[in-house]
Amino acid sequence: MKKFKILIFLLCEINDKALAELKSHLQNVFGLDVEVTSHSVDLSFAYNERRKQYSGEEILRKAEKNKRNSHEKWLLIADVDLYSDGLNFIFGLANPYSGVSIISLTRLRQQFYGKPENEKLFIERLKKEATHELGHLFYLGHCMDKKCVMHFSNSLYDTDVKSDYFCERCQKLLFNMKT
Ligand SMILES: [Zn+2]
Ligand SMILES: [Zn+2]
Repeated sequence: MKKFKILIFLLCEINDKALAELKSHLQNVFGLDVEVTSHSVDLSFAYNERRKQYSGEEILRKAEKNKRNSHEKWLLIADVDLYSDGLNFIFGLANPYSGVSIISLTRLRQQFYGKPENEKLFIERLKKEATHELGHLFYLGHCMDKKCVMHFSNSLYDTDVKSDYFCERCQKLLFNMKT
């Protein structure tokens, strides 16, 4: 049986409480070791002047060049507004073939929408988006179940409606991919 490992690459600041909760949630839900490292990376290579946003694909492509071990599932966490061609913005992006994914914290904060800070909500959203992208790295697709973490989030409303867990069907698929 292959032993996968989740590696989180912090490309930004994140508070200890949020990180601890994220780590234990991912360990729990994937049943895998989670390792966290911090990196100061200049993301300006991915900046799109016209859109005033950063290309998720370009950041993934650059990270993929450094990846050697196919048993590692990478999650990059950045705090810049991400886009993907054809979409106004993205919460995250994953490439199952390389095993690299990214999420952005920028649009998970209430302050982004001119609302007062809400740490609990921020941490919930963080756990959901991270679990979702890592789910894609285990070849899970989008799920019709609105409560399932693999449900597609068109907006934060969808993110807030879904749980941070896999539905029974996705859980089974995940189990099969891990073994
Ligand atoms: Zn998705
Ligand atoms: Zn599901």
